[in-house]
Amino acid sequence: MTLFDSPDFANHEGVHAVFDEKSGLKTIIAVHSTARGPAAGGCRMWPYASAEQALTDALRLSQGMSYKNAMADLPLGGGKSVIIGNSRTDKTPALFEAFGRAVDGLGGQYWTAEDVGVSPGDLAHASRVTKYVAGLEGHPAASGDPSPVTAEGVFRGVRLCVERAYDRDLTGVTVAIQGVGHVGAYLAEKLHAAGAKLVITDVNEQALAAVAAKTGAQIVAPDAIFDVEAEVFAPCALGGAVNLQSLSRLKGRVIAGAANNQLATPEVGRLLFDKGLLYAPDYVINGGGIINVAAEIIGIENGTAFDADWVNAKLDRLALTLAEVLDRSAAEKRPTHEVADEMAKARIADATRVKAAA
Ligand code: NAD
Repeated sequence: MTLFDSPDFANHEGVHAVFDEKSGLKTIIAVHSTARGPAAGGCRMWPYASAEQALTDALRLSQGMSYKNAMADLPLGGGKSVIIGNSRTDKTPALFEAFGRAVDGLGGQYWTAEDVGVSPGDLAHASRVTKYVAGLEGHPAASGDPSPVTAEGVFRGVRLCVERAYDRDLTGVTVAIQGVGHVGAYLAEKLHAAGAKLVITDVNEQALAAVAAKTGAQIVAPDAIFDVEAEVFAPCALGGAVNLQSLSRLKGRVIAGAANNQLATPEVGRLLFDKGLLYAPDYVINGGGIINVAAEIIGIENGTAFDADWVNAKLDRLALTLAEVLDRSAAEKRPTHEVADEMAKARIADATRVKAAA
């Protein structure tokens, strides 16, 4: 398979494979689009079984970032980098410095940040040789932990979906949260404060106990979360939580949570729509985190401090975008994920036209 024959090649502007013999770095940096601004997206380190798998991941994830950034109305395009290696055994300062040089070689077309297997400590090595790194502490534009901002965006999205599906506010509504890690825990507190009843699950007993103590949430076993009598199912753990099996068990009419890649397949999105369920497309409702990171990138670019007001205004806008997705889905009788994809593509195409005309 060559790059251009790959089913995941989606007119990516650039796909850069970089090998550094001295450090052993093998990285692929995929720049899907810079139409709206520099491509932004994290760096993932994973022991891919083949270069082909690494390429597939980079192509898919970078396109996903273009869509997410467009729907969050950010002045950013989409990119992603993958490092082929084991994050527990293969990390060295030299490897991340070499990665930093690879990022710098793109001259600002791509901004990196942390993702699975990569920590701020690793990126600190990269930042010695490039400025195009977000997510580091200790500078005026630093954006800190994105999780509370992601949770705020998801909270607003859950509230909107409940209004649409049940014509009521959150008081007394039961929300089943799968995963009470960084985002899930903040989300639980916000929902509790708004009067919702919570049922939570996690594989981490400590996280469960801490959230239950703060919110009075009922705890259930991981597999039991799909059978809870809840109006809302909020996936906040891993991808693929909405699949044929779980869909047949869910009792409520709303699926809205923070996790990435919630639909096991696009067909599941069509099926849940046909069953009358309302699904908040994941990359729209969870855009708060990238909004926070965007504020940092803009700050570094302009030499200004982190602007929390800008972040809040973008969160307001994100809620309006989600409302538009739901409106169009209802009016056009099409699944929300299809409407969101179409809107994202249109936003990127508009920016491409403007850029070409400039
Ligand atoms: P996290 O790792 O802090 O939390 C995930 C939680 O899910 C953990 O507590 C983990 O124990 C739990 N979990 C794992 N497997 C489980 C299972 N089978 N059943 C129940 N619980 C399980 O991650 P996070 O930062 O809170 O992110 C949660 C999700 O939201 C992820 O999919 C992430 O990609 C997505 N997301 C996060 C952000 C952010 O700002 N952190 C932004 C956008 C999207």
